[in-house]
Amino acid sequence: MSIHKTEAIVLDRKDYRETSYLISLLTRDFGKIYAQAKGAKRKAGKFGTNFSPISYNKIVFYENDKSGFHIISQADLIDHFNAIDTDIERFTYATYFLELVSAAMPQGEKNPQVFELVKKFLNFLNKQYKILNIAQIFEIKFLNLSGFKPRLDNCVSCGSQVLKESKFSFVLGGLLCMQCFARDHSAHKVLQGTIATVNYIENNELEKIANLRIIESVRKELQYMLRRFIDFHVGEQFNSIKFMGKMKTAYV
Ligand SMILES: [Zn+2]
Repeated sequence: MSIHKTEAIVLDRKDYRETSYLISLLTRDFGKIYAQAKGAKRKAGKFGTNFSPISYNKIVFYENDKSGFHIISQADLIDHFNAIDTDIERFTYATYFLELVSAAMPQGEKNPQVFELVKKFLNFLNKQYKILNIAQIFEIKFLNLSGFKPRLDNCVSCGSQVLKESKFSFVLGGLLCMQCFARDHSAHKVLQGTIATVNYIENNELEKIANLRIIESVRKELQYMLRRFIDFHVGEQFNSIKFMGKMKTAYV
């Protein structure tokens, strides 16, 4: 049995028997893993963290190939992002980031860039009160790093440059040029402004784009396209998204 040390963000925590937790973690060095923290519920202080979701920890674990659940032997809290915890809107966004990552990332596939991205967005949410379009910005950045990147530079079917009119194919995962519209009859027309906004978000740091004003028609289209793209390629019902819908109607 080999032993490993890494940093980890808790994605989810479930009670296991009387005394333990089963935890799903996004780690810097081992990707998404599942682990048991034996005795974590009963003995206060056995671990230097309570493994609450969203928290950022240092962990040591024994690799267990048989069950897929590793055994955590040591853990210490680095940050629990306390401002996120006290604000329902920020908490919902943070939960959404973790739900999306959890659904899209395969188990045991190392991706330190995704780890850094999630950490950065949690830190950012923790510090800033109002962040415009944060869900869409996260989606675009995450899709880029996780291998789901939609193709927006050239036609996904023939590879030629998309000059004027284009449609977005959710099935094929990118833009179609006019000559290739027939490849997917369910493809959706897109505004040039939407493509330009995606490119802009892809190529700029979070600090620069966090308060980017996007015109309403583009913002709506972007939201719709990303949502459908993620539904199609990741295919999960996210509780946080349902909650965001409820929150919006309550706030309007
Ligand atoms: Zn084409």
